[in-house]
Amino acid sequence: MQTQMLIGGDFTDAADGSTMPVEDPATGETIAEVAAGGPADVVTAVARAHVAQSQWAATAPRDRAETLRRVWQLMTDAQEELADLITAENGKPLADARGEVAYAAEFFRWNAEETVRLRGELGVAPSGTNRILVHHPPIGVVAMITPWNFPAAMITRKLAPALGAGNGVVIKPPAQTPLTALRIGELLGDAGVPDGLVNVVPTADSAGWFDTCVDQEPVRMVSFTGSTEVGRVLLRRAADRVLKTVMELGGNAPFIVFDDADLDAAVEGAMLAKMRHSAETCTAANRFYAHRSVATDFAERFAAAMAEVQIGPGADDATTCGPLIDAEAVQRMVTLVEEARDDGARVLTGGGVPDRPGHFFNPTVLGEVGHASSIARTEIFGPVAPVIPFEDTDAVIEMANDTEMGLTGYVYTEDLRRGLAVSERIRAGMIGLNRGLVSDPAAPFGGMKQSGLGREGSTDGIYEFCETQYIATSW
Ligand code: NAP
Repeated sequence: MQTQMLIGGDFTDAADGSTMPVEDPATGETIAEVAAGGPADVVTAVARAHVAQSQWAATAPRDRAETLRRVWQLMTDAQEELADLITAENGKPLADARGEVAYAAEFFRWNAEETVRLRGELGVAPSGTNRILVHHPPIGVVAMITPWNFPAAMITRKLAPALGAGNGVVIKPPAQTPLTALRIGELLGDAGVPDGLVNVVPTADSAGWFDTCVDQEPVRMVSFTGSTEVGRVLLRRAADRVLKTVMELGGNAPFIVFDDADLDAAVEGAMLAKMRHSAETCTAANRFYAHRSVATDFAERFAAAMAEVQIGPGADDATTCGPLIDAEAVQRMVTLVEEARDDGARVLTGGGVPDRPGHFFNPTVLGEVGHASSIARTEIFGPVAPVIPFEDTDAVIEMANDTEMGLTGYVYTEDLRRGLAVSERIRAGMIGLNRGLVSDPAAPFGGMKQSGLGREGSTDGIYEFCETQYIATSW
C-alpha cells in the first residue's frame, strides 16, 4: 500500500513529516497513516509539474495517446487490487468498486482516442483580407481537487483529458480516500508518464493546500469535483488570479414516474439511480415524484426492493450497500428522516441505524412526503428515498425545477413523446429517460445552475483543458 505523496516522480514523506489517518468506514478502524502535505510540498509539486509540462506539451499527440492507453491497460490489469483499495477506504461493495475501476480506466482509453483528434479551424475572414487560424494549446499546470465518493473515477475523469491535451497536474485527493489516488500515481509512472508531470499531494488542510496552490504562477486552472458549498469558495479564490475553472458540483435529482410507466422498470431504475455506490453519488435520485394513481403501488414495490438490500462491509460478497463514509453522514440521515416524519411522511421500510459497528444506515423509503419537506430540498447523499405524489405534468416539472441544483433528472413513461418533452423542460445537465444510469465516458457529464460549470467526458472534456488561440494571417 502506497502511503507517501508523489512529487516529481518520487514517493516521499511530507516536508514537515506530518501524517494523517485513513479509516475503514465499515469498522471505524485506522487502516493507514498517509503523508499529509503542507505549503512547502504544494510549492515543490507545482514547480515540478511546470518543468515536466513544457516537455510533455512538445511530445507528439500519438505518443501522449499511447501513454494514456497504457494507463488504461495497467488500471484494467489491476482492477481487483484497485477495487480492494476503494472498498477498504470508501466502504462501497466490491462489485461497485470493480465497476468504478472499469469506468475510471475507460477515461484513459477514451481520451487516448481524443488526444489524436483535437481539432483546430482555418477560415477566411469575412472581409477577405486574411485567414483565421484557430488551434488549442494546453493551459499549463492544472490543480485538481476531488471527493471521496469515487476515489478513482473523479480523478481520472479530469486527469486523462488534462494529460492528453498536454498539461501538468497537481492533485489533492480527498483526505478520507487518498490510498487509491496514490496507487494510480504509481501506475502512471509504470505506464511511462514522465516524472513530475502528475503530482499527488494529500493534505489534512485542504483550504491551506488550495490557498498555496492557486498563488503559484504556473497554475492556470482549477478543476474541482465536490459540493456546491465548497465550489463557491474555490470559485471566489480562483478569481484572484482569474484562473479557468471547471466545477462538477452537487445534485438534487428528481425521479419522475408517470401513470403509464412500466413500474417494474421504474423500480429497477430507482434502485440503480438511488443505491449504486452505497447511495453516495452526485447523480443519485434524491426526490421520487410518482403520479398519484401509481404512487402507492410504486412506493410499496420500491420499499420491498429496498428491504432486500444487504448492508454490511463492502468486502463481503453478500453486501449490496456498504457503510456511509463517516458518523456525520449517518447523523444527517437520522435528522432528515426525523424531520420528514414530523412533516407527516410514513416510513415504509428502514428508517433507523442498525445495531452494528461502522457507519451504517438502514435503506429507507418514505411515503407521502411533501414537496416542501426539508428532505426534498437537501442533497441526501445516503440510502433514504422520499416518495412524493403528484397530480399533473406541469406541476411535477415545476417541482422538479424548484431547486438551485441541476445535475441529473430521471423520467419514466412508456410514451416516448411525453418523455422527451418532459426531459427538455427539466433544467438539468443529464437526463435518464427510462434509464437509472447516465454516467458514460463518451457522454458530456456536468450540471446546469449551481450544479456546475463545464463538462467532463465526451469530445467536450479534453477541450476544457485547452486554451483557444487564433492567429490572423494571410499569404
Ligand atoms: P466536499 O466537502 O466539497 O469536498 C470535496 C473536495 O474538496 C475534497 O477533496 C475536500 O478535501 C476538498 N475541500 C473541502 N473544503 C475545501 C476548501 N475550503 N478548500 C479546498 N478544498 C476543499 O464534497 P464531498 O463531501 O467530498 O463530496 C460530496 C459532494 O460532491 C456532493 O455534493 C456530491 O454531489 C458532489 N459530487 C459531485 C460530482 C459531480 O460530478 N458533479 C461527483 C461526485 C461528487 P478534504 O476531503 O481533504 O477535506
